[in-house]
Amino acid sequence: MPTLVDAHTHLFAPAQRAARIEVAARDATFADMYADPRAKMASIEDLLVALDRAGIAKAVAAGFAFAGPDDLAEQNGYLLAAQERSGGRIAALATLNPAAAGWRDAAEGALAAGARGFGELRPHNQGWDPLGRASHALCDLSAANRVPLLWHVSEPVGHAYPGKLGGIAPADLIELATAHPETKMVAAHLGGGLSFYLEMPEVARAIENVYFDTAAVSLLYSEESVTRLAALAGEQRVLFASDFPLLSPLRQLERVRAVLRGSAAQAVCGGNADSLFFAAPRLAGSSTRNG
Ligand SMILES: [Zn+2]
Repeated sequence: MPTLVDAHTHLFAPAQRAARIEVAARDATFADMYADPRAKMASIEDLLVALDRAGIAKAVAAGFAFAGPDDLAEQNGYLLAAQERSGGRIAALATLNPAAAGWRDAAEGALAAGARGFGELRPHNQGWDPLGRASHALCDLSAANRVPLLWHVSEPVGHAYPGKLGGIAPADLIELATAHPETKMVAAHLGGGLSFYLEMPEVARAIENVYFDTAAVSLLYSEESVTRLAALAGEQRVLFASDFPLLSPLRQLERVRAVLRGSAAQAVCGGNADSLFFAAPRLAGSSTRNG
């Protein structure tokens, strides 16, 4: 039985869950997505219950792109502690704000504490240019430490939803990924249409470092879209993901398994994410894990 992995979930620190009104008052993007008390915010315990219900072994816990360094530090601390306590079930992604001074120190600190990558990245929400100098520096840091970047990608068309815009546009991600072939990138939400351009041979060759996750796919795309993405990008580059707690890992897993079979299902539903986030050896010298 291959390992099942949910490659895109979100957790918040207890104080951030308890004080969402106060946090919303100081962070406009957070307010857009979480000021509504019906917008779910999850703890590590909530996530583990949801994974167990679905028979999913592991999950990638991503951060929210807060603007302020204190909110980022609190969330990164919680996610990294959750990873540490999880017995190998959780891979924590640290979140950064490259528009803020000191982001690089925060990034290196998170790597030293065991972060398995960075994201979910929302450059336009935080006010940095995804093709600017800091973004290229982040790509270099990611490549040097062999950890991926998870980008919020959205379509330039279709219905609006809280937090839709503010990530990276498909064309910008293609340009950035082309400039950084050594940096593994995950384009969330099926890549927001980016995958269509894999039909162009020169684009396909240039972005072999880009993976695609299925987070929130049932809110955005037709049932067959995952099958078509796997055909276009290759099944080794598609990662099952729920966007928990927005959606249920169990229900989303059932949907993906309904359209993929055999080796494709095994790769997409866990094999790929297990290699990308859980198995990659950290580069010597980038950190020495404590304990
Ligand atoms: Zn997203």
